[in-house]
Amino acid sequence: MIGCSCGVCTSTDPRNKRRRSSLYVVTEHKHIVIDTPPDFRDQVLSFGVKRVDAVFLTHPHADHIYGFDDVRRFSSMQEEHIPVYGQPRTIKQMRKKFDYVDRISYGFESVPRVLFTGMNQSVYLDEVRITPLPVSHGMDQIYGYLFEGDEKKLAYIPDCNGIPKETFQYLENLDVMILDGLRPDPHPTHFSINECVDHLCKINAKQSFITHLTHHSDHHDLQEQLGDVVTVPWDGLEIEL
Ligand SMILES: [Zn+2]
Ligand SMILES: [Zn+2]
Ligand SMILES: [Zn+2]
Repeated sequence: MIGCSCGVCTSTDPRNKRRRSSLYVVTEHKHIVIDTPPDFRDQVLSFGVKRVDAVFLTHPHADHIYGFDDVRRFSSMQEEHIPVYGQPRTIKQMRKKFDYVDRISYGFESVPRVLFTGMNQSVYLDEVRITPLPVSHGMDQIYGYLFEGDEKKLAYIPDCNGIPKETFQYLENLDVMILDGLRPDPHPTHFSINECVDHLCKINAKQSFITHLTHHSDHHDLQEQLGDVVTVPWDGLEIEL
C-alpha cells in the first residue's frame, strides 16, 4: 500500500510483496493472460513471460486493465494481432480508454495490435475451452473465467461478492479454483476472507486459492489460519496440472 508502513508493507517476506491480480495460463499450444493490471510490464518481466496468444479481461476496473499498453511488445514480437476477449461492456470501455489502439500509426511497435472481441459464451483456442463466468462485483455483473482442456478444469474469479446459481453449476469437479477474498472486513464489492473460504469449501475444488489480497493479510499468518483447506498464493506461484 502506498505510504503505508504496516508489518505487511515493510515485511521482508517476498510473499508479502503483492502486485495486482493476474493469471497466465499456458497450455500445450496457447499462452493466455487474464487481465493486464498496471503491474503487467513488471509481472511479465519478473516471471519471464515471452508469449501472449490471447488476453481475457474480467472487467474494466483500473487495477485490471491499465497495463494493457504493454501488450504491444507481444504483438510486435509475434507480428500478429492478439485477440482480446471480454464482456461486450468491457470491450466497449477498452475501445474508449485505449482509443489509439489499432489506429494507423508509425509502425508495428508503437501501439498494441489487437482484435477486440466481445464474448457472451465459450470460445475455443485450439484444445482449450474458455467460458465466461458472470459474477456480482458490487452493482456490476462482471466475468470470471473457466478453462477446460485435457480433462483439466480451472476457474479464476478475482473480483466478486456474489456467485449466481447459473454460474455455480460451472464450478463442479474443478482441479483449481482461484477466488476473490479481499480482506478480513466486509467490503461492498469483494468477498471477505471468510466469505471466500465459505465459497471455496462449497465449490470443493481439488486445489483452492484465495486471491486479490491486501496488506491486511500477512502471508504466513493467513496461511496458518486457513490450514490446508485453502492455499494463500504469492506472486509468481506456478501450478502444474
Ligand atoms: Zn500496509
Ligand atoms: Zn474490480
Ligand atoms: Zn480488482
